[in-house]
Amino acid sequence: MSTKIKSVKARQIFDSRGVPTIETKITLENGVTGRASVPSGASTGKYEAHEKRDGGLEFGGKAVFDAVGIINGKINSILCGEEIYNQHRIDYLMINADDTENKSLFGANAILSVSLAAARAASNSLSIPLFYYLGGMTANSLPSPLMNILNGGRHANNNLNIQEFMIIPTSAESFQDAMRIGTDVYRALKRLLEEANLSTSVGDEGGFAPNLQSDEEALDFIVKAIDKSGYKPFEDVSIALDCAASEWFKDGKYTFMKSGVSYTPVELSQYLLSLCNKYPIVSIEDPFSEEDFESFAEFTDSTPIQVVGDDLFVTNPKRLSDGIDKGAANAILIKPNQIGTLTETLATIKLAHQNGYETVISHRSGETDDSFISDLSVAVGASQIKAGAPCRGERLAKYNRLLMIEQILGKRAEFYSFF
Ligand code: PGA
Ligand code: ZN
Repeated sequence: MSTKIKSVKARQIFDSRGVPTIETKITLENGVTGRASVPSGASTGKYEAHEKRDGGLEFGGKAVFDAVGIINGKINSILCGEEIYNQHRIDYLMINADDTENKSLFGANAILSVSLAAARAASNSLSIPLFYYLGGMTANSLPSPLMNILNGGRHANNNLNIQEFMIIPTSAESFQDAMRIGTDVYRALKRLLEEANLSTSVGDEGGFAPNLQSDEEALDFIVKAIDKSGYKPFEDVSIALDCAASEWFKDGKYTFMKSGVSYTPVELSQYLLSLCNKYPIVSIEDPFSEEDFESFAEFTDSTPIQVVGDDLFVTNPKRLSDGIDKGAANAILIKPNQIGTLTETLATIKLAHQNGYETVISHRSGETDDSFISDLSVAVGASQIKAGAPCRGERLAKYNRLLMIEQILGKRAEFYSFF
């Protein structure tokens, strides 16, 4: 039976913040279907592809009925009859019909949901796992998880300026082992916060969001939690930060959103390096703003740690190319919805790997239970995945899918240890 597209149908669903988002289902002429839903960020980069929202009063202005209408109308008629195995053609038919620099006519949320649903329909039609469809025989390595266990910045209503405090189980030998270590530390942190009479309610990505006085106090708590759970800081469990520093940047200065302290780029760099000396920090994402390639490059040059560009690169091959030329970082965060199609996401990942950049496949703060990024991370051989704390169903969906992939791979499974 034909594996051509018979219909593309979308509907409005809700993400983990109760905000509308899109789910798309593609049905093939052979009756096989593929579904995907898309996430949404809070600290979005200025250069991300456009997320289409209806505006108005209902749903806080965030409804996606227009985007759903575009999928059910224009995109459905463009893609009907197309061969499902030609992902590149499917994506470029949408890109060309949209014909804007940032996908603002159809919306990157609309286009991506169709793009991902197409890959799912194709793998379902072949009855093979998604990671295998996307990556083939070489897709056999599980990424190191970067687990966001303390939330600050825009993701929490507390005094922390840094948006994400993550742990990396650096001594793990498999993904399952990494989950054992990561969840041990997460539970130990919960006990420590309870003992200190601090809140253990969680932020958007499942990490705790206690009202601590400073970012250093947060780091002290994490080191204590690592100790308490019987692991050695650095050797067994290291720390990664996401500063999301675009949120701090105004008029050439970095002003911490919660404490109000202001730094020049050089002072901020010194401050971050001092944190790296004092704590087992091995990775920092977005230490500077999305405009500040220069500070990024100087910082990358001055430290052996991993420097990750998120808002800086927005999964965009042009911005990554620019960053590679300038020596701006040594790793890139990959969020498919920043660019809007699977084909372009894969192109950015390829460019990163060709230039020795590590890739960190990432969720968004507003998520659904779709675990596409887990399969993607294995398919492309990404060394890391960032999917929040081991808490909240939409975060665990990603980690649990990776556990399943590890099991499917069996003896063939390998693991990217961070060190
Ligand atoms: P966002 O945050 O999904 O709210 O943009 C995640 C990140 O900055 O990495
Ligand atoms: Zn980020």
